Amino acid sequence: MLVDSHCHLDAPEFDPDRDAVVARARQAGIAHQVVPATHAEAWPKLRAVCAAAPGLHASYGLHPTFLAHHRPAHLDALAEWVARERPVAIGECGLDHFVDGLDADAQLQYFEGQLRLAHAQDLPVIVHARRAVEQTIGLLRRFDGLRGVVHSFSGSPEQAAQLWKLGFLIGLGGPLTFDRAKRLHRVVEGMPLEQLLLETDAPDQPDADHRGQRNEPARLTRIRDVVAALRGITPDAVAAQTTRNALSLFRIAAA
Ligand SMILES: [Zn+2]
Repeated sequence: MLVDSHCHLDAPEFDPDRDAVVARARQAGIAHQVVPATHAEAWPKLRAVCAAAPGLHASYGLHPTFLAHHRPAHLDALAEWVARERPVAIGECGLDHFVDGLDADAQLQYFEGQLRLAHAQDLPVIVHARRAVEQTIGLLRRFDGLRGVVHSFSGSPEQAAQLWKLGFLIGLGGPLTFDRAKRLHRVVEGMPLEQLLLETDAPDQPDADHRGQRNEPARLTRIRDVVAALRGITPDAVAAQTTRNALSLFRIAAA
């Protein structure tokens, strides 16, 4: 059994064949998928997608690269939505200093607002940190007891260790499958396996064998296998521990 801790199943790329995509994931042993939100107008569709099949778990938030869609009132709307819908997490939220034209101050305001909300609601956060891992660690430090995952982690082994001390997990997916990803490989070799979540980020971030194609959650098995090879343990051992980690962080019942 596996958990895809980060999969944008509500994305329009899956509109033509979403049921088949979920069926392939179940056949591949992926029992649960966490579906993080991007922007407020998309929350109702995400809710409908997750209600359509068992094992799909919504997370609601305001994604930094969708900044143009966000309004300050959406933070209040998020608080109401979360109180009513009881999602497994807040997010995807965070900072992106890679994509051009995203106002840094505005990103920070939405991120801090969502960190405050997650802390107050005792929910984990799903964090996007691109070219912003150091700044993110500094922000997370200010919220004692906050839990969550830095998804598609791209930092150093030292930064992974700092996040672990703060109680944060890291999510890894497609980028790990590239031979040139030496620093990520060192992260996986040195981290506690209790800190790791597997993810596809589908339809984005396909593995090295599917470059340029639509990614899909069934390919999570490839990530599991790469982690197993790097750690010198069996794929089953990776699956068992990362599944425990995901179910525990998101408080998902195992059945
Ligand atoms: Zn994402």
